[in-house]
Amino acid sequence: TENILEVRNLKKYFTLGRGATLKAVDNVSFSIKRGETFGLVGESGCGKSTTGRTIIRLYDATEGEVLFNGKNVHQLKGKESKDFHRKMQMVFQDPYASLNPRMTVGDIIAEGIDIHGLATGKERMERVHDLLRTVGLNAEHASRFPHEFSGGQRQRIGIARALAIEPEFIIADEPISALDVSIQAQVVNLFEKLQKERGLTYLFIAHDLAMVKHISDRIGVMYLGALVETAGSKELYRKPLHPYTDALLSAIPIPDPDLSQARERIILQGDVPSPINPPSGCRFRTRCPKAMPECAEIMPELVEVEPNHFVACHLYK
Ligand code: SF4
Ligand code: MG
Repeated sequence: TENILEVRNLKKYFTLGRGATLKAVDNVSFSIKRGETFGLVGESGCGKSTTGRTIIRLYDATEGEVLFNGKNVHQLKGKESKDFHRKMQMVFQDPYASLNPRMTVGDIIAEGIDIHGLATGKERMERVHDLLRTVGLNAEHASRFPHEFSGGQRQRIGIARALAIEPEFIIADEPISALDVSIQAQVVNLFEKLQKERGLTYLFIAHDLAMVKHISDRIGVMYLGALVETAGSKELYRKPLHPYTDALLSAIPIPDPDLSQARERIILQGDVPSPINPPSGCRFRTRCPKAMPECAEIMPELVEVEPNHFVACHLYK
């Protein structure tokens, strides 16, 4: 099937003082099929949010390409650029910070409708009411303000705002991380329901594999600016290949029938090194229990070692 998104050798570097460069995203490639959910996972600072923000053009790319429906998003101009901003939307981690506290919920949700001139007056308000119901709130909520809602409800408002201009693709950047555990599943279920109803494609970013497992068709694991493994969600759980993925899975506390056996907890030594001065060769080598001499010399590339299962590690050659 058709790829709605292709990320090719994407780099996003930030120049800091004194000639230092932060390589937040360093040569990341993956693609997402229409209607699919791709989960992007890694510890904080691994570059997953920066990847999302570069895809949606909140940042320019330092190098590489992002193709959306076959077109390089960083080269779009005029009407094509406006269309892109309509078709791709983002839902943020902290729904409160992303909602203007002085605007009513109705006006927040209608912002995109106004910007894109999609509806006015009664029709505009009807759309807002429909959206509120779609995300599990009700029409009367339109006249209230964000502070009157709980965290889970605010995230629903953020989702309604993203849906208002009928996007094809949503980047959800840790949309459930700030919510109570009891609310997380409800919001994930809402994302799944909306995907079915509207044929949406998702890039779903999280710091924890357990959060993306159920919603993702495929998962990519990032470490220090690079993608270290991508596979189908079930495959990744059953047969993690990269030592880092192994460690992440071993940290999931709840017994999970898809984990092939009870995993021994793998405690990684040390902290994530700074992306300003990453280790030579494999970036994971300073914490990898299986590191070999060549790991310090050669940077492993992401290669397909089994059908649709890619890994960047010298153990698989
Ligand atoms: Fe570990 Fe070497 Fe594989 Fe890197 S390349 S993950 S250091 S075994
Ligand atoms: Mg983040």
